[in-house]
Amino acid sequence: MSLEHVCIIGSGNWGSAIAKIIGNNVHKYPQQFSPTVRQWVFEEMIDGKKLTDIINNDHENVKYLKGVPLPVNVVAVPDLVDACKDATLVIFVLPHQFVRGICEKMKGSLSPGARAISLIKGLEITPSGTRLFSEEISRILDIPCAALSGANIADEVARERFCESTIGCESVEDGQVWHRVFHTDYFRINVIKDYTGVQLCGALKNIVAVGAGFSDGLGLGSNTKAAIIRLGLMEMRKFGQTFFGDMVQNETFFESCGTADLITTCSGGRNRKVAEAFVKTGKPIAQLETELLNGQKLQGTLTAQEVHEFLTGKDMVPEFPLFDTVYRIVYEGASPEAIVRDV
Ligand code: NAD
Ligand code: 13P
Repeated sequence: MSLEHVCIIGSGNWGSAIAKIIGNNVHKYPQQFSPTVRQWVFEEMIDGKKLTDIINNDHENVKYLKGVPLPVNVVAVPDLVDACKDATLVIFVLPHQFVRGICEKMKGSLSPGARAISLIKGLEITPSGTRLFSEEISRILDIPCAALSGANIADEVARERFCESTIGCESVEDGQVWHRVFHTDYFRINVIKDYTGVQLCGALKNIVAVGAGFSDGLGLGSNTKAAIIRLGLMEMRKFGQTFFGDMVQNETFFESCGTADLITTCSGGRNRKVAEAFVKTGKPIAQLETELLNGQKLQGTLTAQEVHEFLTGKDMVPEFPLFDTVYRIVYEGASPEAIVRDV
């Protein structure tokens, strides 16, 4: 059997945490995986040094995952084509706004028979509708693409605190390969077929987390936040049923990618944190993203805007009042109190 060559596209907070797991896991199956894992890193200078050099010399991503040693077999590569050349297993872990451009640049570089998996939490909104990132990656690169999503705050995973995650994969065989790539004692993987539900949950929960952050900013307490989470869950399910029909399974909402991810993101995530600060300080979201996240990217506010645009095109905005309210607070100057008044 020829060896699988694993490549990671992305090196932010989650990209770095998952690189630690993958770098360690490939050693467990030397007959199946090549020992070197290439990671494409968006190059930047840190105190006069290239981030890729820091990762390769010191084995730490000092900007996006400080204090966590990375396995030495994870090699940072600044050139995208060099990073993915001849890869057979490609892991996409990027903020969703960059995915399309990156995929276009990767065309023609992968090995025949390559497969991908998307760890991206977001949706691609096109003039004709919404597209999952697994579909977008498959469409551009002409390879099958699975999805992984779960209640997985990167810093906690990197510190090996027990959690679960869900892989959505149509092919049983590929599902087994991805399970080997990701599963550990502290990062427990369940593989299901519903790759659509896995990705919808991951994208839409970020909008709900912004709503939860508004509630925290207003100091409304646990009951209100629980109500926002529940209402958000109902809208997530309705969005899936309305626009993806039978492709989304109800049970998926009970996997790690569903309710569990809603709970963790609404408790400890970046979307929640920035939304709370938005209410408390009155500063614009973009400014808070810069001030609070040190280069990490918010996904929930952008997804709220994209989903709003999509629902407007369908004339269905009022049917998703929580999504709409988050959008109006962020983009139209609605009062944060609308998060309990209008949902
Ligand atoms: P991040 O927000 O920590 O980092 C931003 C990344 O974007 C950096 O690697 C930066 O170098 C890169 N970047 C900046 N400008 C760029 C450009 N023009 N082109 C390409 N890349 C550029 O990233 P992350 O946390 O790894 O998030 C990636 C995905 O994983 C997101 O969809 C996120 O929702 C999801 N996710 C994150 C977490 C988490 O806890 N961080 C957990 C699960 C899933
Ligand atoms: P944030 O992007 O809000 O930090 O959420 C991280 C996440 O997806 C946890 O599962």
